[in-house]
Amino acid sequence: DQERRKYVKGKKLGSGQYADVFSAHLVSDPTQLVAIKKIKVGPEVQEMGISHDSLREIKFLQELSHPNIIRLFSVFSTKNQNLNLVLEQLPQGDLMKLIQDTTIDYSPSDIKAWMSMLSRAVWFCHQNFVLHRDIKPNNLLIAANGEIKLADFGLARSFADPHAPMTYNVITKWYRPPELYYQANFYSGAVDIWSVGCVFAELVLRWPLFHCMPDGDLAMLGMISDKVGTPTEDNWPGVSKLRGYVPVAKEDVTPVKRRADWEANFGTVGTTGADLLMQMFALDPRKRPTAAQVLEHHYWTSDPRPSRLDQLPRQG
Ligand code: ADP
Repeated sequence: DQERRKYVKGKKLGSGQYADVFSAHLVSDPTQLVAIKKIKVGPEVQEMGISHDSLREIKFLQELSHPNIIRLFSVFSTKNQNLNLVLEQLPQGDLMKLIQDTTIDYSPSDIKAWMSMLSRAVWFCHQNFVLHRDIKPNNLLIAANGEIKLADFGLARSFADPHAPMTYNVITKWYRPPELYYQANFYSGAVDIWSVGCVFAELVLRWPLFHCMPDGDLAMLGMISDKVGTPTEDNWPGVSKLRGYVPVAKEDVTPVKRRADWEANFGTVGTTGADLLMQMFALDPRKRPTAAQVLEHHYWTSDPRPSRLDQLPRQG
């Protein structure tokens, strides 16, 4: 309650599947704007209370301080266990809106700048043993200075009603790596790297690489086969032992796409960009670069240079 009274709540900024988001400012300093995300807590959570694990995760995130990760200033709960996250306010929309806004042109330099910020955010998360698990363009919010910030650490989801009907945007699985479809019970930061690859490809194509409606697991695996190649014991030793593995008849196997294919489809980000993209889409998660290896790739230092923040396009 003490925490809650530090803020003056203002107008609603938006609402999503799991939360309503309000503008607010500090009582002590009206120029300090924040966003209060009021999570729609499901009945199960209300009954059982907010778990210690979840609170520990929140405390952890509160300490994750990086220019490309949304700041979580504090957390408080109100009547009937409503959970409120006090976040940095990011008023410039998100990368999905920007990708879809056909009135906006952006360049390979802009893509490099955005990808660089995203890659550094993911590196920082992994360095601190946090997996994001839900990286996609609408979870990349844009700050007033043009910086992009990784947001929505699945917190809303873990508190929300698990039986609530989901909209297509929420259940979208277009950014999920094949090991999750195969129900690998051990997975790593490589899941996030796949999603980063999906964002990279989408920035180039201005359309999701694995676009699929409805996005059933088999349909999604089919898309991945089509665009990247079919997972087999040859390209991914052990894949057929995974719990959710779906065997594919020999004649239906699509060979893994080669460098020339990536360069043909993603040549606008140069041969180094196409190479990085190809690496992020290694089917075998052990063969994907780590976030640290992504940052060492020569894409970042080859021409063109990434745009400066003040050069990046933004929405009206
Ligand atoms: P959910 O997790 O339920 O999908 P979102 O995180 O998508 O909720 O938030 C819903 C809307 O609120 C977003 O579309 C955006 O317009 C707005 N919003 C969310 N977070 C912020 C923020 N930090 N600053 C400004 N607006 C935000």
